Amino acid sequence: MSQLDETLLRLGSVEPLEHESLSHYLGRLRRLKANSLPSAHALGQAAGIGGITARWEKLYFNPFPTEAELGAISRLIGLDTGRLQEMLPNRGMTLQPRPIRLCGACYAEVPCHRMAWQHKDIAAVCPHHPLRLLERCPSCKKPFQIPALWTDGKCYHCEMRFTSMVKYQERSKKTS
Ligand SMILES: [Zn+2]
Ligand SMILES: [Zn+2]
Repeated sequence: MSQLDETLLRLGSVEPLEHESLSHYLGRLRRLKANSLPSAHALGQAAGIGGITARWEKLYFNPFPTEAELGAISRLIGLDTGRLQEMLPNRGMTLQPRPIRLCGACYAEVPCHRMAWQHKDIAAVCPHHPLRLLERCPSCKKPFQIPALWTDGKCYHCEMRFTSMVKYQERSKKTS
């Protein structure tokens, strides 16, 4: 293991966005020009923790990421482990990894996928806006891609902008 540690390259880091989910963050991290890690597996391998990061990119957090795994990523990119933990689902939150959800109003404020949208909640209302979350593109009806693949803020299929989708979000009568 020590031999592995010595050969580890320090990768470039990107600053997490407010409310950003780990899946969205890992995709940005991999696409950083200095890193250019072509696959989700490549990141985990560079950190010496195998392909587990590919599961995280798909919002699969069962088993939950361990401190050792997060520590390996943290050392690789020089970002505090606590910053990585902030991008994970809250303790006590039941995560529903599919469908991938979107609030266009949130995305207009900060262009990223938020973990809070994936709460297993029948109402599926945005925690920040009185709007129902979208579970597919309102134009072409395709499901959203995993957040790690959100590169340009558009539907990958019909190219409708995420920020334009807000007008298709039903207003919720609930005030939370
Ligand atoms: Zn919102
Ligand atoms: Zn579309």
